[in-house]
Parts: sequence; C-alpha cells; structure tokens
Amino acid sequence: MPEFGLVCNDIRKKYHKLALDLSFSVNKGELISIIGPSGSGKSTILRLISGLDTIDDGSILIDGKDITNLRPEQRNTTIVLPDYALFPNMNVEKNIAYPMRTLHLSREELKAEVRRLIEQVNLTGFEKRTIDELTPMERLKTALARALAAKPSVLLLDEPLSLLDAEERLVLRNEIKEIQRSTGITTVFVSNNQEEALSIADKVIVLRNGRIEQMGSPEDIYRRPCSEFTATFTGECNILPYDVILKTLRVPETERSKIIYQCFGPEHRLLFRPEDMVVNDMPGLPFPEFFPHLRFENAKITRCEYLGKEYLVTAQYDGFTIKVYTVYKPASDTITAGIRMTKILEFNDGKLIRH
Ligand code: ADP
Ligand code: MG
Repeated sequence: MPEFGLVCNDIRKKYHKLALDLSFSVNKGELISIIGPSGSGKSTILRLISGLDTIDDGSILIDGKDITNLRPEQRNTTIVLPDYALFPNMNVEKNIAYPMRTLHLSREELKAEVRRLIEQVNLTGFEKRTIDELTPMERLKTALARALAAKPSVLLLDEPLSLLDAEERLVLRNEIKEIQRSTGITTVFVSNNQEEALSIADKVIVLRNGRIEQMGSPEDIYRRPCSEFTATFTGECNILPYDVILKTLRVPETERSKIIYQCFGPEHRLLFRPEDMVVNDMPGLPFPEFFPHLRFENAKITRCEYLGKEYLVTAQYDGFTIKVYTVYKPASDTITAGIRMTKILEFNDGKLIRH
C-alpha cells in the first residue's frame, strides 16, 4: 500500500458558478498536476487544501492526518500564488527567512538555513535585492525558497510559471521538478499549460466544471484519453467521423471488409494525434511500402505554422480538417498523409470505447 501524502475525500464546494465535487489522492513525495479550462476549479482546490477556503462536505488528510477542521496555519501546507505575493518591503533574504520566524532558531542557524535555501533555488548573489529589483523568474525562485522555508508537508503551486517567458518556463519547470524530487515534498502543481503539466507530473488530473474528467499517468492522459474533451485539451488531434475514414481506405477490395469489420462503428468518431501520421512530402514519388492503408490523399493545405523544430500543417480533406506535422515546409499546396489503424482511438458520444 502506498503511503498517501494527500487525500481529498469527496470534497465539495458550491459557489454560484461552480460545483466542485471530487476525490483524489497523491502518494507521499509525488507531484500531481491539475489542468483544466479557466474557471474549472483548479485554484479553488488549492485554496480548499490550504484552508484559505473551507469545504462544504468531505474530508482532507495530510500524511494520514485529518486536517479538514484545522486552521490554515495548522495544516502544514504552503501555497505559491500566481503573483507570488512576496513582501515588497523586504529583500530576498528577509522574504525567505519570514516563515522561520517562529522556529526559535539562533541567528547563525537562521542565516545558514536561508543560505541553503538560496543555493537550492540558484539565487546566490541576490540576497539583498528588493523584490522590485527582481525579474519574474527571480521572484518565483524567491517565492519557492520562502515556501520551502516553512517545511511544508504539502506544497501547492498555482500556475507558478505563467509570468515567465517560454525559455524561462522550460528552465524553471525542470528546477521545480528537481527541487520537488530532492526534497520529496508532496506537491500539487496547477498549470494552464498542458505540455508543462504532463512533463513535470507523476500523475495528472484533468478537471472539467469542478469534476475530474480523467486522472492517470501523463502517458495515460495523452495516449489513452477517456474522452474527446481530454484528448483535445491535452494536445493537437484529428477527430473525424467514421465515413470519412472509410474513404481514405486504400486496400484491395478483398481486404476491405475484413479491415472495416475489425474496426469502427458507423456512428463513432475516430481520433488520432498529428504526430502519429505518416507524411509523403515527395510529390510524384510512389508511396513507400510502409505507408499506411488509411490515406488522406492530396488534402488541400490551408495553413502551415512554423513551430521551430517542425511545421504544423492544416489541410482540408472531404470537407474535414486534418492536422499533421512535417519536418520540411510542404512544397505544393496539397499534402498526403496516412495513419495506421492501431493509432486510431474510437469514441462514441465523446467517450472512448476502444483503443
Ligand atoms: P480556475 O483556477 O480553474 O480558473 P477557480 O478555482 O479560480 O478556477 O474558480 C472557478 C470558479 O469558481 C470561478 O469562475 C468562480 O465562478 C467560482 N469561485 C471561485 N471562488 C469563488 C468565491 N470565493 N466566491 C464565489 N465564486 C467563486
Ligand atoms: Mg486559477
């Protein structure tokens, strides 16, 4: 039996526009990411765990202890808010030392501890800076160090990277993961960025209107989404009706019925990720042996976005949109791409029925 660092048991909270109702647990020392559209209740969950707000019903356990009725300062959680809420009138050092004021440390002990925390977040040299002299990234590091200073049992991070630019986000998400791993603090990481959330987490919750749409490993969430909602929310995907897929089938007549019989109900929708498609970007050349049986031939390109390491090409096929990644910029205004049956997920009424 794994030891739970955090358990939320049937917790409920009702606001005018939100009815939160969910259960989940986090193994001790693990990081769980929560993603979901704006307004789905992500921040509310963190506020309920930290005690900034009270639940209507249910219970919350931290390291096996029921803390549902404890005041925020008795719960041993720390929350890093999206704007970090640092004390503007104190320098970096004083901000970080603040949570330790009640620990009765000697001056030397306090100094040593602050130094250790500053090293941990790579802020050496910034001790005397005031908050308004810091970049957003340095502010986040200060906020993290201050959060760690309280030695929380559960660390709550509410969209901590949203003020940073793309490059800094990459650096800091790795630093957060590294700090979390080395300290072994049970952590809840709320993010508005799917890729970030999946990359950093041991487990992911997809939230929808105050309820858990899906919970699982990052791979499960991305590769085996239980619903079209999770699939589209976690990344680019192609969703097409069954009869369009039928038109893409390029196999001898004799094999058609076998393949169709094996797969697909007529009322179902079929979903696959653009990165699973095989592209023929060499016009005039025959399709290679390995090219899949399902082919979107000569789809008309309507958009081509350059993403740095690849292009995301959007094209029209039989009135439907398909998306595909290419390494090279397509040379013509059409593209042919294929997909294997095994890469296709089948959905009925928005829910996964087979994969
Ligand atoms: P998220 O962080 O996922 O964007 P929030 O948890 O901040 O979502 O809020 C979800 C919704 O809950 C808000 O749109 C709002 O309607 C409602 N809500 C949150 N906190 C309160 C509150 N203190 N009073 C009333 N409604 C609230
Ligand atoms: Mg929020």
